[in-house]
Amino acid sequence: MNIPAIEGGTPVRDKKIYYGHQYLDQADYDAVLNVLKSDYLTCGPKIPELEEKLCKITGAKYAVVCSNGTAALHIAAMAAGLGEGDELITTPITFAASANCALYVGARPVFADINDETYNIDPDSVEAHITEKTKAVVAVDYTGQAVELDRLRKICEKHGLVLIEDGAHSIGTLYNGKHIGSIADMTTFSFHPVKTITSGEGGAVLTNSEEYYKKLILARAHGITRDTSLLEYESHGPWYYEQVDIGYNYRLTDIQAGLLISQLDKLEMFKSRRKQIVEMYNNAFADMETLTVQKEIPESDTARHLYILRLNTKKLSIDRKKFFEALAAENVMCNVHYIPVYYFPYYQKLGYKKGLCPKAEKLYDEIISLPLYYGMTDEDVVSVIDAVKKIADYYAV
Ligand SMILES: *Cc1c(COP(=O)(O)O)cnc(C)c1O
Repeated sequence: MNIPAIEGGTPVRDKKIYYGHQYLDQADYDAVLNVLKSDYLTCGPKIPELEEKLCKITGAKYAVVCSNGTAALHIAAMAAGLGEGDELITTPITFAASANCALYVGARPVFADINDETYNIDPDSVEAHITEKTKAVVAVDYTGQAVELDRLRKICEKHGLVLIEDGAHSIGTLYNGKHIGSIADMTTFSFHPVKTITSGEGGAVLTNSEEYYKKLILARAHGITRDTSLLEYESHGPWYYEQVDIGYNYRLTDIQAGLLISQLDKLEMFKSRRKQIVEMYNNAFADMETLTVQKEIPESDTARHLYILRLNTKKLSIDRKKFFEALAAENVMCNVHYIPVYYFPYYQKLGYKKGLCPKAEKLYDEIISLPLYYGMTDEDVVSVIDAVKKIADYYAV
């Protein structure tokens, strides 16, 4: 990709910058080493320690950590009782897993459109898509900004739906002063390296419901239990356990849990730096006619995971693809989040047609995810701003 942004120009940056990067320090390395030297690499004491810490930070009653954010969504869908013939409403502007979790359990994902200013799922569109088959909503805190939880909760209560919040982007975010994880029926997190905190791979489901908690614990580990209150047959002896349901091996290791416990100590530091970077970007772009800044709702105090640059294509003589390539020529390596889920061949073959969610489709045509991560220096941020402005100004019409 060596298309110079501007004929004959030199790049704003001489070294490539990427859209996301993890941040680990000595405390993280020590935490991992301590687990490696301990008796338990998995199923050990770091798992309840991490779960208690997640509960303490978020205010949720229960946390179930698991192997990744996708597994978290899968066991949440199982705990919600979703199955054959049921429908789950979600947004197309998300990672495929938010919708795939319905397919895993034999249910059908239904796509509601977005609010074209916040880019989050539109509660009115959710309500318009409810049928007798609807059982759950997976609402994604896109970019880390909380969805309209008050309205979504009301809608779900009114129609008897389970509200699952996909918080893969939003650990650390507050909604009306309450932590994400303590509000929806179940909230899932991902700890992939591009997310705010990481264990390489990792996930969690948070809930205030004991009923969901018990189901999540079973689904995470083979549907097997030693809990005497759950056993169906008479015990054979002290070694006895039963498989009482279908489940998976979705366990997190103690190595990963040790790392996450240490990463959680840096959550507030990560959040405030991410907010600073977002503010620098917003200040630079808010008054430009060629660009649109994502609207922030006052209820959300956002630990921002992604910064979305939206092009006002009417005011530019190039499209998103050319803009993206021009940024790469400036050594600003971006990404696009997300291709609407139902555009994928797998979904097209299931019968989903383009045109389902016009606002989401228009958003997809106009967005680029700029670099945003804790380790960016102010100079990095300024160089990204300079590159964006250089291209936008040059191609402004
Ligand atoms: C990353 C992500 C997931 C999946 O998490 P993994 O840990 O990668 O399995 C799900 N939903 C959203 C919105 C994500 O960004």
